[in-house]
Amino acid sequence: MPIFEENIYFGSPVEQFKAHSDEILGVIHDVCFSPFHILGPKVNAFEDDFAQWHDSPYCVGVGSGTDALTLTMKAMGIGKGDEVITVSHTALATVASIALTGAKAVLVDIDKETCTISPKKIETAITTNTKAIMPVHLYGFPCDMDAINAIAQKHNLYVIEDCAQAHGAKYKGQKVGTIGDAGCFSFYPTKNLGAIGDGGGVITKHADIAQKIRQLRQYGWNDERIGEYASGVSRLDALQAAVLSVKLKHLDNDIAKRRTIAAEYDRLIDWSKFDRPKESENCKAAYHLYVIMSPRRNGLIEAMKKENVFLGVHYEHSAHKNPGYKEYIKLPDDGLTVTEHMSNVVVSLPMYPELELSKVAKITEFLNEF
Ligand SMILES: *Cc1c(COP(=O)(O)O)cnc(C)c1O
Repeated sequence: MPIFEENIYFGSPVEQFKAHSDEILGVIHDVCFSPFHILGPKVNAFEDDFAQWHDSPYCVGVGSGTDALTLTMKAMGIGKGDEVITVSHTALATVASIALTGAKAVLVDIDKETCTISPKKIETAITTNTKAIMPVHLYGFPCDMDAINAIAQKHNLYVIEDCAQAHGAKYKGQKVGTIGDAGCFSFYPTKNLGAIGDGGGVITKHADIAQKIRQLRQYGWNDERIGEYASGVSRLDALQAAVLSVKLKHLDNDIAKRRTIAAEYDRLIDWSKFDRPKESENCKAAYHLYVIMSPRRNGLIEAMKKENVFLGVHYEHSAHKNPGYKEYIKLPDDGLTVTEHMSNVVVSLPMYPELELSKVAKITEFLNEF
């Protein structure tokens, strides 16, 4: 007999939906009967809500997290011939967004304590073509933003935060996304704030960047519907925005629940057998994922499957291992040692706000005996 009768996944958008289903179905009904199915008042309202939640002056809703990153870079004038420094240990989307501008992703190694970009590695990667640094707050762990901002200031670079996994994570008490020039979010269903389809958003303190993204999301149109730039389309739709406004009201509570679950894993796991990325004093993680490191990662995944627990790996194929991106990637001379190591040992345990602590206890019991 497996430990669990039902399947348990590392993330669960269905449990999220069930927790607020009446409210969500109510707003979906409203949108269906409203004349605005794309952009319009629901999108404006969500943009205001999300900006306010961050204490940020501007938010622009777009079609996905990838587009949030791409359009932000394009709004900053980044394109062919330019370089953006980021990590390979991330969702492929991070690097895809850079490739989509025509620029090159200059990949640097991560810090082995936090699994986020190593500030020490950034400075040596800077060239005359570097335009921006893109720290990724991976798993919901804030990057070392003081060090990153100091380097950016010294070399006159933009800082674009990839916050796709980090809604609500805090660095020195400040929400991520508000610390650099722009914070880019994904509302993919499994993220800390998830829609019931694709969605993304950018928050920024720069009025001109916000305005340009607003135009780039829709053919380059200005307010008079004159196309001032050549651009595609990447709009947030009203259904997603309405759902996101509902879920945003519960986000602080959901993050608190994620942190409670993380604390329970922290308390119960036998740390002589495993390791994990650590929260430094300045960082309050939002625990999009709860990741541990095990030298027997693949065996663990197979064993847990038999107990109906489906673990994740974030990420097995580092960005530079994807052949389609070769011409858009530049690797450091000293290699990506920590990245290569992590790709072999990281594994994501079940983590979502509705996960019962009794299940966490059973999962850790199995882990500790494995
Ligand atoms: C999910 C994710 C993205 C991309 O988001 P999409 O909405 O899927 O385009 C970008 N960066 C990171 C780190 C992500 O986890």
